[in-house]
Amino acid sequence: MTQESVNPDPSCEDDYDPHSMPVHIARARIDETISPVNTVERIAVRNALGRVLAQPVSATFDVPPHRNSARDGYALKLEDASPDDAKRLKVVGSSFAGHPYGKALQSGETIRIMTGAAMPEGADAVAMQEHVEADGEEILVAPGAARASHIRHPGEDLKTGTQVFSEGRVLTPADLGVIASLGHAEVSVYRRLRVAFFSTGDELKSVGETLGHGNIYDSNRYTVHGMLSRLGCELIDMGVVADSADAVRDAFETAAAAADVIISTGGVSVGDADFVTGMLEELGTVNFWKIAMKPGRPLTFGKVRQATFFGLPGNPVSVMVTFYQFVQPALKRMSGSTEPERPRIRAKLTADITNKQPGRLEYQRGVLTNDKTGDLVVSNTGAQGSHVLNSMSAANCFIVLPLESAGHSAGEWVEVQSFDGMV
Ligand code: AMP
Ligand code: MG
Repeated sequence: MTQESVNPDPSCEDDYDPHSMPVHIARARIDETISPVNTVERIAVRNALGRVLAQPVSATFDVPPHRNSARDGYALKLEDASPDDAKRLKVVGSSFAGHPYGKALQSGETIRIMTGAAMPEGADAVAMQEHVEADGEEILVAPGAARASHIRHPGEDLKTGTQVFSEGRVLTPADLGVIASLGHAEVSVYRRLRVAFFSTGDELKSVGETLGHGNIYDSNRYTVHGMLSRLGCELIDMGVVADSADAVRDAFETAAAAADVIISTGGVSVGDADFVTGMLEELGTVNFWKIAMKPGRPLTFGKVRQATFFGLPGNPVSVMVTFYQFVQPALKRMSGSTEPERPRIRAKLTADITNKQPGRLEYQRGVLTNDKTGDLVVSNTGAQGSHVLNSMSAANCFIVLPLESAGHSAGEWVEVQSFDGMV
């Protein structure tokens, strides 16, 4: 059992703490401890969207498999056409997609051909129908109309033997199409991560229950459920857990028996009703970090038996910020994903930000748009309290303000993390 840098007051309010841990160090520490699942399953390509490839996919034949026309028109021999004069050719047949012309083309002959239809042997050019005049059994090909470039060659999309996707790829709709184009009905993917989650707090009621004085509804379990669903995890919703050592112990035991990952919200400060960190200490290994970020200062991370544990703060915005900055990248890696990080983007502030103190990396909720010149511009959503969950709904990005900054002026370029593709 280890415990690191326990500070007597890891509250979310004080801004400067020289002992708090920078975000990138916390991320690196988490990364060192986790490892990907290694159970592999075969599933139908149609069901593989968002799943992580467990084996590379290679092309076992050329795609496209045959020479075919890139235009509607006529297939011919280049030597039968001329760049300077119109040429007359005899129409001897046709090739439609799925219905090739069975013979080789001879000198002076042409066939009607459609986009995607197989090129006949002996033909090495296509004239677009717009450049051809049909005249009974014959056609007149305009000067310069016959083009070899109107032919698609075998392997232009995928060559036999090339590795198309490597292991660790998270499959997109385009990937499913590419895999189908190679004739595969099934793919090998890693099994889904099993994630158990619960909320802690005696003040919490679940939706459907009546609120008494001092109660609030448990919203964290809904945001956590949503964020985990986007990651394609198998979910184990353990409900609300009371603020008592026994209840938290039971929740840990049940979750560890069923899940790869356990996520709790609330109860990680050092208040009298905060049992999560202490219980993790009793049952497993614990890292308690006071992170130099806002919102989301206290974060507990550790292991309960084989399960990886994330103890997120209780405030609803802190839950989402810490999830996206720490838990989501970790779960992606544990799912077997080797996707690179999303590219960083910058946007120009449309208004001053005056409520930033040095000492903490801040994730303000922002609205990202384009201005008249097409530049990306951003403003914050107003009140930035970690209890104002509506700011997350109003936002479409995080504005990432550096540790040392003491405010920003309109017109400054700042880093943003677009929710598009992240949330
Ligand atoms: P805690 O870290 O447990 O002291 O919680 C910090 C703040 O977040 C308190 O105001 C809690 O009432 C609130 N909170 C904790 N858990 C939840 C939850 N599941 N849903 C909504 N608010 C919560
Ligand atoms: Mg609490």
